[in-house]
Amino acid sequence: MVEGQIPIEDYETGNTKHTWDTKKIRAAHKIIAEYKFKKGEIKRGYANRTLYVNLSSGTIKEKPVTDDMKKKFTGGRGFGLKLLWDSIKPTTRWDSEENELIITTGPLCGTTQYAGSGKSLCLTISPSTNIICDSNVGGFFGPYLKFAGFDALEIQGKAKEDVIIVIDGEKKTITIETAPDEKTDSHLLNEQLTYMYASENTDKSRQKVSVVSAGRGAEHSYWGCLNFSFYDIRRKVPRMKQAGRGGLGTVLRDKKIKAIVAKVERFDGVSNNPADPKTLVKVGTKLHREIRDLDRYQCNMRTVGTGHLVEIMDEYDLLPTENYRFGSFPKASKIYSPHFYNLFTKVIHDGCWHGCTMACAKTVDAFTVMTGPYNGEKVTVDGPEYETIGCGSNMGLWDPLWILEFNFYCDTYGLDTISTGTAIAFYMEMYEYGILNKERCAGLELCFGNAEAALGFMHRIASGDKDEFIQVASKGVRRVKDWLIKKGWGDKQLVEDTGMESKGLEYSEYVTKESLAMQGGYGLTLKGPQPDEAWLIFMDMVNNAIPTFRDKAEALHYFPMWRTWFGLNGLCKLPWNDVEPTNNAETNEPAKVPEHVQNYVDFQNAVTGWNVDKEELILQSERCYNWQRAMNVWLGRGCRKDDWIPYRSMGPVTEMEYISRKERYDTQLVEKLGLAKKDVEKMDISKKMKILYAYRRNQYQKLTDAVYYRRGWTPNGVPTPQKMKQLGMDDSKMLKMLQKKIDEDEKAGLNVWCGTYKNGEKPPSNDLRYWENW
Ligand code: SF4
Repeated sequence: MVEGQIPIEDYETGNTKHTWDTKKIRAAHKIIAEYKFKKGEIKRGYANRTLYVNLSSGTIKEKPVTDDMKKKFTGGRGFGLKLLWDSIKPTTRWDSEENELIITTGPLCGTTQYAGSGKSLCLTISPSTNIICDSNVGGFFGPYLKFAGFDALEIQGKAKEDVIIVIDGEKKTITIETAPDEKTDSHLLNEQLTYMYASENTDKSRQKVSVVSAGRGAEHSYWGCLNFSFYDIRRKVPRMKQAGRGGLGTVLRDKKIKAIVAKVERFDGVSNNPADPKTLVKVGTKLHREIRDLDRYQCNMRTVGTGHLVEIMDEYDLLPTENYRFGSFPKASKIYSPHFYNLFTKVIHDGCWHGCTMACAKTVDAFTVMTGPYNGEKVTVDGPEYETIGCGSNMGLWDPLWILEFNFYCDTYGLDTISTGTAIAFYMEMYEYGILNKERCAGLELCFGNAEAALGFMHRIASGDKDEFIQVASKGVRRVKDWLIKKGWGDKQLVEDTGMESKGLEYSEYVTKESLAMQGGYGLTLKGPQPDEAWLIFMDMVNNAIPTFRDKAEALHYFPMWRTWFGLNGLCKLPWNDVEPTNNAETNEPAKVPEHVQNYVDFQNAVTGWNVDKEELILQSERCYNWQRAMNVWLGRGCRKDDWIPYRSMGPVTEMEYISRKERYDTQLVEKLGLAKKDVEKMDISKKMKILYAYRRNQYQKLTDAVYYRRGWTPNGVPTPQKMKQLGMDDSKMLKMLQKKIDEDEKAGLNVWCGTYKNGEKPPSNDLRYWENW
């Protein structure tokens, strides 16, 4: 035992204990529909069938997974896109009867030999964006779904009353059951259902149950997340990981699903039935050793989780503070990782799926809740992760305990911490300018740093408060921008420039002002501003490794494709580059971590029995990435105007921001825009800001041109039929739809590059067959 650790058998969380009469609660269930299935064999990572549940009709059935489906869509997020394409219409919106909530696995999901192999991928039409949102999440549900016999779960329709869906891999039944007496908030509901569906009253039995739920906040906002449980056998509590982005929990509750339960009979290290177990063990062991030996000198994630990023972001002026006005702050050291390390329970391993040596899923046990309906209870808080701590700095909350309170209530209410924190930060800035005030904010003094007001806002969302502000503000930044502009409150441009959303989704927690590539990493994405497609700030801003538009476009092609690949296979991205081999810096392309890329080639081949190379991995992603973009176009929202970003993410909106980085901006006016230094010194700030505003917006337009060009899209951001065919995606309905859209754009004059080019600069070619020549 390592010094300071507590023997497992002696460990008590100290949490408030609940006594549930689960027999009585379960006795109130009515079975609405039941389906019996035969146990199937997992072959080389695939269960080879998916599960379809329709809540309106009570239909439950299996669908086959064909070889063609594997070839074109690989698995995971790819399967989700295929199932959505077959089931929804271009008019489908998030609350339409035919919208689906899909949870998928991926051929490598459920592996225990390679770190980070237990991720589920969730997809739906998002209430925030009304296009497809995909979100990945840890916890046991995805692997259990597969080991029960299904590569994906597809839920359509709406129930008439609150139900749970139970996938029982032990009895081989699927049931839709009413669930009138269970709690809704996730920390309680997940505990109730874990105990209720465990076959025996033992920790081992409880460990074979995983629950997906969303709390009351998900019902009354567009920020609903999905909480995926995993029973922690050491702490003896069901813990939770979140599929946070895009309102998946809101769709869950709109369908009146209280929870989804998956239960397995048994599983072990070969349940995925890999083609080549020896290679799998070899490649997995190599990574385990690297993580064990190197993590402490690199990111230290095994000790402090992703929170180590806070001090780095603060140092590099990238930590979002007061609604992204600033990137560092004198008080930021109060929320550096050592403060959270002191609060974390240090009880050995913290992986969110078996075999994850990285173990970044930290917790605080026996946290005493300070506000709201659970005031005084002692609970386990999962996290906080970097993004949640970043929400704290964005709202001006510099006390780790308030960040934990925010984290706990977001999770149990089923609210995405990122959207909630970013939106509140925007409301706080509007409050500071007097555009919002106590009267307009339902009596809440929503100013920077007021933690009680922020929590009060969340409690009122969860309680279904009908006040106009609570109703609008719980739908997110985009709706509040429209509301303020309609009311005539505040300067329209200021509101548009400071509300941090793109496509309707709130920004995640990085300041992008000084990295053009990262502005594209947030804006030129499929679902909205989330760094799971590309995180290029260090490559671009710190290392200056991608100085030209062509370099940036190449990075904004490669990295989104590479990162998409994790979602096709059911993997976590963190073990790819949050630990690096010691000689990585000496390789040709250190940002790609070539040795780890080869690991993934070996890993996929070892499980599936295929013989792919690293180029084929990118092609797997490119097929699905372009398919998702094309589906967004089909849904009416996947074009250039939707990839625009607020000016706060490009440059300084207010004089205060300009002054905070005056030297940098003044230098840029001289060095990049060619102004004379003496003229810049004499110029007033508002004039300098105006020049910078035009320059930076044009830089973003030029970046967009270059990226679309590299990706094989038209200047309006539409994948061409030729590109789709080149990738082997030959669905005639899809190809016709794309050609029709391109023809319409041609007539509307939208097939032209939009950057302003001068001094010999050239826009990308207008030849739409450019991918042959790139
Ligand atoms: S690295 Fe962290 S988030 Fe990823 S699988 Fe491991 S514990 Fe989960």
